[in-house]
Amino acid sequence: MADLVIIGSVALDSIKTPFKKVENVLGGSATYSAFAASFFCKPGIVAVVGDDFPLGYLSLLEKKGVCLAGLKIEKDSRTFRWEGCYEFDMNEAKTLRTELNVWETFKPQLPREYRSAGYLFLGNIDPELQLNVLAQMGNPKFVIADTMNFWIEHKKKELEKVIRKIDLLLLNDGEARELFETTNLVKAARQVLKLGPKAVVIKKGEHGALLFSRSGYFSAPGYPLENIVDPTGCGDSFGGGLIGYLAKTGDLSDGNMRKAIVYGSVIASHNAEDFGLDNLKKISLSDIEGRYQELRRMREF
Ligand code: AMP
Repeated sequence: MADLVIIGSVALDSIKTPFKKVENVLGGSATYSAFAASFFCKPGIVAVVGDDFPLGYLSLLEKKGVCLAGLKIEKDSRTFRWEGCYEFDMNEAKTLRTELNVWETFKPQLPREYRSAGYLFLGNIDPELQLNVLAQMGNPKFVIADTMNFWIEHKKKELEKVIRKIDLLLLNDGEARELFETTNLVKAARQVLKLGPKAVVIKKGEHGALLFSRSGYFSAPGYPLENIVDPTGCGDSFGGGLIGYLAKTGDLSDGNMRKAIVYGSVIASHNAEDFGLDNLKKISLSDIEGRYQELRRMREF
């Protein structure tokens, strides 16, 4: 039984940084989110891959405790592929290629055991599919959604429908500005709250994240990393860590939301220290706990 259902891409990524290039490594929004959430709870993925997808990648997710009952393997099809690169400012990925492939015809069918999960993460993917999955869920306690410029540019109306139906929206700063056509993040956050969500988190890459809710404002620091290798998946692992912690604690108070955001930020910092999932594969909950306490001490004044 999954505590948390996550829809999003399961992908083969090719990534270039100023220091190294890798091809067809395991990636995707659902992959990173589920991996991060699994430190705290039992996530179940809703996604599709082609029969070119390496089976070793599936067992890696299963070993981490991710439920794959909602992952379809489509015959004679190609997996989603994304190619991106980073310059010396590693806060922003430049997309070089997006191949939706098997996602173009995917019709999600939620396994029965997913439908009663209390938590739902509509990860970065086509907003029409996010709506489809939301409609199949029973009555989740808390729903969050993420997106990216690709969907803001191609499916803005559908994305607005998603935003009207969720509890918390995750966006990075550039996406928030693009979606609401403003240079000001406070104004963008206010627009999100007007559409219905109780809260919005604006991610600011290595500089942390901002929470705007009806009851207040919180600024979470980014962990001061000395060695950023590949930030791909930081947004997704941030979101997965955040909702995974909420699912574990079952506490949706403002105070606990702040803790969840700091946990998300800590897991994202671990993710950036190597390519793909290579570093998240190595760490344990005590590494996460250690950095969480360090951040707490750094913020005292
Ligand atoms: P992040 O760095 O957290 O924003 O997300 C990076 C991940 O998003 C990569 O692993 C990609 O495979 C995946 N991705 C890139 N573009 C898209 C898209 N248009 N829809 C869904 N997932 C995507």
